Amino acid sequence: MASHPLAPAWLAVPNDANELAPAVWSSNVTRNDSGVLTVGGVTATEIAETFGTPVYVLDEADARERAAHVHSAFTREFAAIGSSAKVYYAGKAFLCTEVARWVTEAGLNIDVCSPGELAVALAAGVDASRLGHHGNNKSLAEIDRSVAAGIGAIVIDSLQEIPRVAEAAHRHGRRQAVRLRVNSGVHAHTHDFLATAHEDQKFGLPLERAADAVANIRSYDSLDFLGLHCHIGSQIFGSDGFAESAARLLTVHRELLERGPVPELNLGGGFGIAYTTADDPESIDNLAAAIARIVATECARLDTPVPNVAFEPGRAIIGPTGLTLYEVGTTKEVELNTETGIASRLYVSVDGGMSDNARPALYGADYSVRIASRTSEAEPVLIRLAGKHCESGDIVVSDDYLPGDVAPGDLVGVPATGAYCWSLASNYNYLGRPPVVAVRDGVARVIVRGETEADLLARDAGLDAR
Ligand SMILES: *Cc1c(COP(=O)(O)O)cnc(C)c1O
Repeated sequence: MASHPLAPAWLAVPNDANELAPAVWSSNVTRNDSGVLTVGGVTATEIAETFGTPVYVLDEADARERAAHVHSAFTREFAAIGSSAKVYYAGKAFLCTEVARWVTEAGLNIDVCSPGELAVALAAGVDASRLGHHGNNKSLAEIDRSVAAGIGAIVIDSLQEIPRVAEAAHRHGRRQAVRLRVNSGVHAHTHDFLATAHEDQKFGLPLERAADAVANIRSYDSLDFLGLHCHIGSQIFGSDGFAESAARLLTVHRELLERGPVPELNLGGGFGIAYTTADDPESIDNLAAAIARIVATECARLDTPVPNVAFEPGRAIIGPTGLTLYEVGTTKEVELNTETGIASRLYVSVDGGMSDNARPALYGADYSVRIASRTSEAEPVLIRLAGKHCESGDIVVSDDYLPGDVAPGDLVGVPATGAYCWSLASNYNYLGRPPVVAVRDGVARVIVRGETEADLLARDAGLDAR
């Protein structure tokens, strides 16, 4: 079939608009004999009946497996070059106490970047020594709390923060391990990376300032310098940006070694995932091998020992394990003039939207969609999955094909919503945030309950005054 004049170039007409492409769905998603989408052995219809829609669904076994896989891939590749790798799960992608336990049980540490994220990790029973604390503007109270809790590492992000952390550590009689966040001038996104001398952004210090900052850190007895930290971006598909950034960091790392110990190098996160079948991210195994290779090569060239490394993936662990189930409420065909004549797009509106998935509105992010409650032999039509908010930019899936008989009452599933959807959710239009349901071995259970109308009214002080 010829491509649709309103469809983006990357979107091909599917041979089968019921197909659940393995690249974008979590590993325990399939269709049962009746064609109903199932996750971990539980059907989408059962999930919707029990928990309502919209609902975020996490494939627990898949999440645990991805966490363990990232851990083993980096451990293996860096052991092969004579060092070791720590992996921190970036909690901002999605954090609740259950997920904190899944990832720590898989051997990962956790990064937090706010008092709330710290509280969740601690409430999950994660040992504070396994936590890293990020942020470009941590308050004094936040720093104090992290130090008092015995946090594993604080990532220093500005010159002002050096004495602040040093004083907090001194007050608590601790020697606090710290990293220094630097800006390598490499910024990567999806296929490309940009490498400049300077980057125009709020995080970290320019690489040229690292030596002075580290000298300052080393002047405090209460601080223990762990090494440099850099995070070059997110949803990165290849290893080139990491390679360039690692090479730049290692040059400075080596200079720092001349004046004292630098046990680690943290290369951040940002490993990409497939949101649509057009996305083709490098596998974690290949990324780990490629990054280990460049670190080994650069260290040999600089004649410096290979440091232990740390990584901080969030999306790559939790993103592909999640999907969102919605119910279709209305459909509307819109006809538009194109160069090749009139073409139509079917707007399919669901019971959630930008409040449960802000990424399309925020970043123009692409997603895909399938009917979850049945299969259909109807010819595929170009659709746009819209939400129910009072905003024309309230789009969940800008472009995909669904069977042309998609209708009110159908359940639809949007894959790869595990990361940065629930964590970025809002109450826009006073919609309650949907529940998060974990499914494993035929059992579905709520791991974060949805918000009720009572929750939405609970903070409204005007009610008390009445
Ligand atoms: C957001 C962030 C990450 C995680 O990014 P992903 O794209 O989810 O892997 C890691 N480190 C830092 C410092 C971050 O800000």
